[in-house]
Amino acid sequence: MSCIFCDIAGGKIPSQKVYEDDVMLAFKDLNPQAPVHVLLIPKSHIDSLAQIDGAGAQTVAHMMEKIPAITKTLGCEESFRIVSNCGAQAGQSVMHLHFHLLAGRQFAWPPG
Ligand code: AMP
Repeated sequence: MSCIFCDIAGGKIPSQKVYEDDVMLAFKDLNPQAPVHVLLIPKSHIDSLAQIDGAGAQTVAHMMEKIPAITKTLGCEESFRIVSNCGAQAGQSVMHLHFHLLAGRQFAWPPG
């Protein structure tokens, strides 16, 4: 099954990389919703947080652990928002787990 984020993780589709290691990739969103808009994805395919198992939880923990360093690199360590849309009603359009890292403007709460 083709997956655009698997293709980005595998280097078949180019991306503007912000951070990469064996487990994850962070790259700039093509359609930014804020001055800083980066996507954090696991390199191995997971559909969404609805499919997380023990191994997936370790992957997610690794990704969360990298957030302080990534936000420092981006200069937004003081204030940022992490969002993971899960399922169509929540707005998920790419069915490969990803966390939006958004920063650089005022955000509303609750989200629209
Ligand atoms: P979501 O709607 O939560 O599934 O988020 C998917 C995100 O992927 C959207 O913000 C898109 O702008 C972004 N996106 C889709 N294709 C690409 C791509 N090739 N490179 C970077 N971002 C992408």
